[in-house]
This record gives sequence, C-alpha cells and structure tokens, in this order.
Amino acid sequence: MTTFESRNPAHPSSIVGTFAVADAAAVDDAVRRATGAQRAWAQVPVPARAEIIGSIGDVLASRKADLARLVTLEAGKILVEAGGDVQEAVDMAGFIAGQGRAAWGTTHPCEMPNKFGFTTRHPVGVVGMITPWNFPVAIPSWKIFPALLAGNGVVIKPSELAPACCDAFVEACVAAGVPADLVNVVHGFGDVGAAITTHPGVRAISFTGSVPTGRRVAAAAMEVGPKLVSLELGGKNAAIVMDDADLDLVVEGALFGAFGTSGQRCTSTSRLVVHRAVADELVERITARATALRVGDPMDATTDVGPVITAESAARIHGMVERAIDEGNTLVMGGHAVEPSECEGGSFYTPTLLRGAHRDSYIARNEVFGPVLAVLEVESFDDAIETVNDCEYGLSSAIYTHDVNLAMQAVHRLDTGIVYVNAPTIGAEIHLPFGGNKHTGNGYREAGTRGLEQFSETKSVYIDYSGRLQKAQIDNREALS
Ligand code: NAD
Repeated sequence: MTTFESRNPAHPSSIVGTFAVADAAAVDDAVRRATGAQRAWAQVPVPARAEIIGSIGDVLASRKADLARLVTLEAGKILVEAGGDVQEAVDMAGFIAGQGRAAWGTTHPCEMPNKFGFTTRHPVGVVGMITPWNFPVAIPSWKIFPALLAGNGVVIKPSELAPACCDAFVEACVAAGVPADLVNVVHGFGDVGAAITTHPGVRAISFTGSVPTGRRVAAAAMEVGPKLVSLELGGKNAAIVMDDADLDLVVEGALFGAFGTSGQRCTSTSRLVVHRAVADELVERITARATALRVGDPMDATTDVGPVITAESAARIHGMVERAIDEGNTLVMGGHAVEPSECEGGSFYTPTLLRGAHRDSYIARNEVFGPVLAVLEVESFDDAIETVNDCEYGLSSAIYTHDVNLAMQAVHRLDTGIVYVNAPTIGAEIHLPFGGNKHTGNGYREAGTRGLEQFSETKSVYIDYSGRLQKAQIDNREALS
C-alpha cells in the first residue's frame, strides 16, 4: 500500500496524518458502495434528507473549535479564518436543509385543454468531487450538502494537501446520520482524481481547483462521457478605487482582501485598479499598515498572516514577483520569503505590494495565489472597467466610490460572477450563487439555490387528463393545406 503524509505548512516537520493512496480497485470500491447506498437514499423523502443535513450543521457547530484547529494545522489558515471556513459549512447545512421544503420545480399551463406541465428534479446518481486545499471544510460542504439533498451518492477526493480536514468533515456527516457508504472519501494525487473523472459509474464531476487542472478534468470527463462537469476555477480579482473613494475603507479592504489567508483565496484581491489622483496616498497608507502585519504561526491569535501552503508555492510566488519587477513594476514592500523564528522550515511570504503594473504584464493577468497586490493606475472610470475586464479570469471584482451612478454602471459592466460595492473582493455569503465568468468556470454556480443545479437532472412532466390523444403544435393550429 502506498501512503502519503499531510504536513503542517507552518511546521513542516510535523505530520498531521498519513493516508493510503487509493488505487484503481479502491476507487472502484468507493463508486460501487456509493451506487448501492444511493439507490436507497433516493427513496428517502426530500424533507427527511434535509433533516439529516440540518443535523450535520449541528454536529459541525458543536465541533467547530476542534475542526478550526485542524484547518489551521493542515491548511495554515490563521485561527479566525479557519473558524470562518467551518462556519461556512454550518451555514450551508442550514440553507440546504431549508431547501428540502422549498419548491422543487415549476408548474406550467399547457397548450391543450385538460393538460398540465411541471418540472421536478431527479438525482444524477453518483457524483465525483475533486476539491482544492484552501477551503478544506467549506468547499466539501458546498458540494456534498446539495448533492445529498438531490438524492445522490458521493465519491470525494480532497486535495492531497488537506486530506485530514475532509475526513473530519465526512465523519461529522456520518455522526449526524448520513447512511454508511453514501459519502466515500478516497485519498491521493491527481491520478486518483483522474480515475474518478473517467469512472463509468460516476455520472457527474464537481471540480474546484486551478484552471489548468480544470481543463484536464473536463476534457477527460467528456472523452468517456458525456458527463455533467461543473468547474469552479481560479481568479485574478480586482478592486477599483475611484478618486472619491473612502480611503480608510479601501485600506482595510485591501489588507483583508489581498493578504488575508496569505492571498490564497480564489477571490483574493490581486489587482488594485486605482485612479491616478489617489494612487500616491493610497500606496503610502497601505504600505504603512501592511508592514505592521504580523507574519507567523497561524495558531497564535496575534498572527495576521500565516504560511503559504508549500515551499514550492513560496518559490512560485517569488518567481512571479521577480518577473513583475523585470517587467517594470516597482517593488513597494515585501517581495521575499521569510521564516518566523517560531516556525522552523515553514513556508512564509511577506505581504508584497507592487506598483506600476501594465495591464499586459504577467503579474496583471495571472493568478498569484499568494500575498501579493499589484497596483495599476488608471485615468478614468472607463479605463478602470476596461482594465479589470481585460483578463481571462472572471470571478470577483469590487469598486470603491460614493457615486451611485458609477457604482451601478460598474455592477453592469464588470465581467465577473461576483461584484462588491465598497467592500473587498472577498466576503461571499452562502445563500447567493458563487462562481465566475470566462475561464473561471463553465457556467455553473455553487451555493444559493443555483448550487443544486449541478447535482440534479431536470425532469419535465406532462399530465394529460383529457382522455384522448392531443397533439401539441398540431391539433390547436391551422392545418398546412
Ligand atoms: P489544483 O488544481 O492544483 O488541485 C485541485 C484538485 O485537483 C486536487 O485535489 C488535486 O489532487 C486534483 N487534481 C490534480 N490533477 C488532477 C487531474 N488530472 N484529474 C483530476 N484531479 C486532479 O488546485 P489547488 O492548488 O488545490 O487549489 C488552488 C486553486 O483552486 C486556485 O486556482 C484557486 O483559485 C482555485 N479555487 C477556486 C475556487 C472557486 O470556487 N472558484 C475555490 C477555491 C479554490
């Protein structure tokens, strides 16, 4: 049996857990168990499924402190952010449980007399889920709860960088009454994800991760499918700062948006698109505050910025910063890895501010996934909108202004799935749809009521109670001759 270890990114010599890599037989077995359990689960009335999901929320809430500590240990988030990760799953359980008593379709008048149409949802069967490491409790909840409500079985492969968090999450599901075998965790690397993607017993794939991996997953699933494939991918999120913005608010938002979770959120603020009139003052104020952020052990309540997930990640981030400088950016602050004294061998990167990026430069177009904020200066509102939209990603954007006309025009013109006004690019709530445009996804959304769509097939039903054959489009229309 091949195994791998998950390690604490702040203390890499500390092993969080050892996990067996699933081979082809283990993936087969997980799909077979999910298939068997799903048949019985699909017969459970939807409100009864919902009650179990509600109970998962209770179990998660009662274990919140322990789960948050595990998220901090394994994913390196500072404790308050780790608590937010778990809270998101608690909130999602409550929301999805409520959906168990909400409308399950639509009703429609029909063309013919004594005939009636309605839609309902049908489970897809077994859903394969492949998840990233950065929201190791919340993201499984976004996928597993709606999938279960819709009557499906689940095989999930969490990131190899956060396997213990997924195990703990699924243990909470089972403790709350989810039937044995309905949700199956398999561990391993990309090849295990690929085995799930191409498994004939898996009808739908729900993937969250980077754009390159998402492309591979979608291509592989279609090769053996078609299958339902939903992709939630990377971001290159931007906040616009107009010349009338409340700069106090912008500074707070920029610090949280760019350096929170060490910049490793799909919605992290990576570009600050600033009106030239306020750029000098804003850069100065962000620098003053950001240099005071404490980088250190995420278990310590006084830490503001924890580690990045691996040494490779720190090296990749640094490579992007060096390239940005080569391309003419000014390094305003940061720009190097650090090793806090209490975290020997840990991978940390200082909050970094770059200025003067051109919108064609590499740093302005590519996801960093680290604590790096690039300031791009613009001359006008139109220039700002075009700069934000000139990017292949389309997840989250923001505008800071007091001008309601500009704010509303931005809402209409920004080509992203999420837009914030006078708030940073992070801060989504679970009852609104979450996801992005362009290369960030393929049209699906998670969370909100739309989150159910990827886990159910729509069934259109016609009831004809006329007692005779009625031909739509023919009987009630003029004959051709
Ligand atoms: P990643 O793409 O490296 O890995 C994601 C998952 O895919 C992991 O479980 C990995 O083992 C698996 N995988 C790798 N190769 C595979 C293959 N060929 N077939 C199937 N599975 C495979 O991403 P990551 O580094 O874990 O996460 C960071 C990325 O995720 C960032 O780009 C971030 O923006 C994105 N993300 C997006 C959202 C969103 O909702 N849009 C949310 C969180 C993270």
